Amino acid sequence: MLMRKVTKVGAMQRLARQWRQDGLRIGFVPTMGFLHDGHLSLVRRARQIVGPKGMVVLSIYVNPMQFAPTEDLAAYPRDLARDTELCRKEAVDVLFLPMNEEMYPADHGREFSTAVVEEKISRCMEGASRPTHFRGVTTVVAKLFNMVLPDVAVFGAKDFQQGAVIQRMVRDLNFPLKVVVAPTLRESDGLAMSSRNKYLQGDERRQALVLSRCLRQTRERVRKEGVVAAARLRDAVAAMVSAEPAARLDYVEFFDPETLVAVEAVEPGTQMAMATFVGRTRLIDNIKL
Ligand code: AMP
Repeated sequence: MLMRKVTKVGAMQRLARQWRQDGLRIGFVPTMGFLHDGHLSLVRRARQIVGPKGMVVLSIYVNPMQFAPTEDLAAYPRDLARDTELCRKEAVDVLFLPMNEEMYPADHGREFSTAVVEEKISRCMEGASRPTHFRGVTTVVAKLFNMVLPDVAVFGAKDFQQGAVIQRMVRDLNFPLKVVVAPTLRESDGLAMSSRNKYLQGDERRQALVLSRCLRQTRERVRKEGVVAAARLRDAVAAMVSAEPAARLDYVEFFDPETLVAVEAVEPGTQMAMATFVGRTRLIDNIKL
């Protein structure tokens, strides 16, 4: 079947309602585009879940609400022609490309003024470094769910906290859908795939490996030593990051993967997440220890 491109919210909702009436399951992969194999692995997972007769929708929307004014909204990489071709090859049924005017109307007197806010697990880590970020994420994802009406939505473990926040929102607000979090895809040298890797210049690409190296070495250490104080692991990570001239640690946290509450005693099964600037590029990665 031919892939459809849909840009209008009303058209997307009509299609989704029709599919539901016809008994077709809907799998949804929300993205900001500039697709890589990590995104495509989510498409495959969605297809696996809804089956050959089900419908897979991938959305591309660079959501202004989740970027702070100082962040990379304007520079965020885009290549719609390439993304379209990749989606076609993956047998995506609908490429949904909502437009800013419809997502956040600014008409006089009836501009957009409602937000969805998770108030507990979105405050730490990414939420501490980027205080308005998750408010933008939960709001746009709630909107997209109301447009695509999915049975299942697939997110990547690369953004671990985001997956947890979305799962919490779906549970708290009774969205009638299932959230699946699929594993992080990596380049062969360990770097987690990310649209933002495109920003890395010259030697920064090599120095960016410090994230996956920190995660791997910490996991080895915790597996060997059993229980290790978070403070000691944090020091070791800080030292590894400061050995790379272009790298600057934003945070490293050790926490319970369910509650996201930080732990002092790290043991196998504890979740580790970190954010590091490499040059001007901010990268995140995480691992279950
Ligand atoms: P983004 O386009 O970066 O907003 O990501 C869209 C979705 O793809 C999110 O659910 C991400 O967690 C997921 N994703 C991003 N990078 C990867 C990766 N390397 N492996 C798996 N999923 C990913």
